Amino acid sequence: MSKEQIIKQGFLVKQGNLVKNWKKRWFVISGSILSYYKSKNGKFPKGLIPLTHGITVEHAKKRRKKWVFAITIPQQRTFYISAESEEERDEWVRVIQNTVKVLKTDKVSLKNFQLISVIGRGTYGKVMLVKKKDTKEVYAMKSLQKGMLADHQQISHTMSERNVLMRVEHPFLVGLQYSFQSAEKLYMVLDYVPGGELFTRISDEGRLSNKSTQLYAAEILLALDHLHKMDVIYRDLKPENILLDKGGHIKITDFGLVKTDLNKKFGGKTNTFCGTPEYLAPEIILDIPYNETIDWWSLGILLYEMLVGTPPYYSEDHEETFELILRAKLKIPFYVEDDARDLISSLLNRNPEKRLGIKGVEEIKQHSFFSDLDWQKVYNKEYKPEFIPTIEDITDVGNFDEEFTEEKVEDSLVQVSVIGKVDQKVFEGFTYIGKIEGIGVMND
Ligand code: AMP
Repeated sequence: MSKEQIIKQGFLVKQGNLVKNWKKRWFVISGSILSYYKSKNGKFPKGLIPLTHGITVEHAKKRRKKWVFAITIPQQRTFYISAESEEERDEWVRVIQNTVKVLKTDKVSLKNFQLISVIGRGTYGKVMLVKKKDTKEVYAMKSLQKGMLADHQQISHTMSERNVLMRVEHPFLVGLQYSFQSAEKLYMVLDYVPGGELFTRISDEGRLSNKSTQLYAAEILLALDHLHKMDVIYRDLKPENILLDKGGHIKITDFGLVKTDLNKKFGGKTNTFCGTPEYLAPEIILDIPYNETIDWWSLGILLYEMLVGTPPYYSEDHEETFELILRAKLKIPFYVEDDARDLISSLLNRNPEKRLGIKGVEEIKQHSFFSDLDWQKVYNKEYKPEFIPTIEDITDVGNFDEEFTEEKVEDSLVQVSVIGKVDQKVFEGFTYIGKIEGIGVMND
């Protein structure tokens, strides 16, 4: 059995049950259990708190501690736990609430949604604007054809990441609210981000100001760091997957979903998919082991594209783009300011061991390009973006490409010959309710 992935971990201070003293403990949420250890590297937990249906979590007041929250297991016990800051407490509370919410969510399927408009197309299927019939909430629904996901390992990876991401709460990451499947497709229902793609904004403006770029880059950095802390590496950050919310802030979509191996994506004979290779780090192209600094490379490319209007290494031909990424000299136009220039070249270091960020995210956060930003204010969305998208109403798709939005909305049929080839067993557990029932906590 593979180990459940860690959803959140960190030091918190917990009040004893009998003796009411406060002790520092290392807390870890994985699966639907919150465990706590005496030390960070502790092997055996001192205690386990099941985050199952029925528990409650809320802010609490204690005379001698700040930022306290309480987890109550009905008729058993209330745990009082204190965090280091208000933000830390709020994040723990949200992640715990989400974990419980995942268990409570009703079983949903395609028939619960009204299809409103097509808004985009990814490598494996389309993205539609949908409305949940009972709550009238609007979401972006992404469908993936099972037949296109050939590799079993890739599927299991997709599914385990999805189980983690379902519980992610972060201001700059798109939330995944529901997922289900039919015989031929997997469906993921995401928060709808109405402001369109960052890509559109770069192409409309030609290039972005230093100020806009700084804020976008800072928000993206926090989102990537959050994923890294959950052991998720994004791997293919690109402007098409960076959306703008109604306030003009960043939301990253399409993380932890389908990550193709490069040969299949670009080289394989049987495969006609065409992704964008301009953001790939040299390690990925060379197919050598990599770590999360590949995302810092992509951030460097993105910074360049925002400030200059085009990515630094680009050719119409994929092979040639790879060559450029691996060998070309980095040329930064004269109008890019010194701080930005320095940050871009430090992130675009081809040697991952020397790339800015290898010693931790703080290295990047403390770079002079960001010197006038307060990171807490970035997280709280206290800086107002220069550009605010125009949005008529919650179902407005005006910020998405007409090429898609004028398409007929339907859940397109998959050829019968393709369905026949799909091995349904590998998708067991995708509808997460099925998985939860398996551990027997739904019978209340
Ligand atoms: P993807 O398959 O995730 O690359 O999605 C394809 C396109 O659909 C994206 O480039 C966006 O334009 C759009 N899209 C994806 N997710 C969302 C979302 N949560 N809200 C709005 N549009 C989205």
